[in-house]
Amino acid sequence: MQPESGFRSAHSPQSPLDQVRDHFDQDDRPREACGVVGIYSPGHDVARSTFFGLFALQHRGQESAGIATSSGNHIQLHARMGLISQVFKEEDLADLPGHLAIGHTRYSTMGGSKQHNAQPLLANGPRGQIAVGHNGNVINAAELREELEQQWGLTFDRTSDTEVIAEMFARAPGRDWFEVAWYAMRRLKGAYSLVIMSKDELIAVRDPLGIRPLCIGKLNGGYVVASETAALDNIGATFVREIENGETIVINKDGLHSKVWPAARKTHAMCVFEQIYFARPDSVLNGQLAYDSRRRMGAELFHESPVDADLVIGIPDSSIPHAIGYANASGISYGEGIIRNRYVGRTFIAPDQRMRDVGVQMKFNAMRSIIEGKRVIVVDDSIVRSTTTVRVIAMLRKAGAKEIHVRVAAPAIISTCHFGVDMATLSELIAANKSVDEIRDHIGADSLAYLSVDGLKRAVNVRDDSYCKGCFTGRYPIPVQLEMDKLALEPAGV
Ligand code: SF4
Repeated sequence: MQPESGFRSAHSPQSPLDQVRDHFDQDDRPREACGVVGIYSPGHDVARSTFFGLFALQHRGQESAGIATSSGNHIQLHARMGLISQVFKEEDLADLPGHLAIGHTRYSTMGGSKQHNAQPLLANGPRGQIAVGHNGNVINAAELREELEQQWGLTFDRTSDTEVIAEMFARAPGRDWFEVAWYAMRRLKGAYSLVIMSKDELIAVRDPLGIRPLCIGKLNGGYVVASETAALDNIGATFVREIENGETIVINKDGLHSKVWPAARKTHAMCVFEQIYFARPDSVLNGQLAYDSRRRMGAELFHESPVDADLVIGIPDSSIPHAIGYANASGISYGEGIIRNRYVGRTFIAPDQRMRDVGVQMKFNAMRSIIEGKRVIVVDDSIVRSTTTVRVIAMLRKAGAKEIHVRVAAPAIISTCHFGVDMATLSELIAANKSVDEIRDHIGADSLAYLSVDGLKRAVNVRDDSYCKGCFTGRYPIPVQLEMDKLALEPAGV
């Protein structure tokens, strides 16, 4: 079955689990790459807190999960395919003692969805064994892999860019972790928010562009590093600050040490899609609560594209803050017209043909008594291929909507991502191939409007160079090779 959501190359075999997920997960949302957590808390076993930190980041990746721990002597690892709750049982956590841990939850953007690519990954070098968890996408991983094979005589046995990062950090020259990180920063191109551990130190690294988020908090007299502030909240840690672009943090028995790579640019180029959709609404990004940014996107969208109507609804759950922002700015009532089954994707029972035909209704259900006879504004946070939008509009028509006006609280996606987000190929992106009027006709709406790039900038309240907006503009913070295959490091035919 060709999945409707998430790009997979034709030579990427789908497991039965993938097939089940792809059926239920029929919204063509972009998929985030990964979530990372690291904890250093002397005197406490931290595997359980790491588990719950990852649990708060499950939305960032659902293919595999893993935790590595140490009591100061050696690293233990448990990493498997599946959701965090499937990968870890009580006995697995009991086998992971130690006051130092890193954890990872993965959606593959480079390297197939396979057990051998589940993270954290281990690597050995002159500084001993390390474990590495990575969120992002290194766009020159294939060249670096060849270079490391020749220079250091390495043989790579996995197929993700994280293996290249892990080997580089294990073997790079340098008197301390800062020099090692700067050696890596000079070579790695792309997005990498990293948690790394040796047997007795926790290291966190954010790439010089700061594309993926990474923050630090305090817990039980120690420290926590996580992709999002919501993970800190989830384990009772106190948010300290976001880690800067180009910053390396080392936490050990002497405390916390930090240095920013002198060549890192002054402002970051964080992925603006984190603000629009990826990050949890209760996470703080670049000093702003994502929920507030999303409401402002909805308000900007109203000011740019008002329309007379009776009701504003959002496509649940991710578009609700944007819809509330649109409704508040317009004075039109906000309501919940569609209910989402929050447990979709958590079953292992494959659908039969009859259930396949029911399609999107297994995930969303429109409430007739709320929709019938109304002129409805449907606010969505993004349209990738449009498969979900087409089905939702058909569902609303069936429920008796008199008019349907679609308002998208992000600009049209006209280009692909190269920094850790799996959305679609260029030929699959509807806005890269059709005009707004053609898309309106294709999805069956009475009207359609997107937020402008300027409107988005106003909503996130920053200068032009402070976010990557590449998928909306085709202009990226660093040169990229268009149409990169996420399986570029896989041997042919595998
Ligand atoms: S291209 Fe789009 S999705 Fe990718 S990092 Fe930039 S803004 Fe985010």
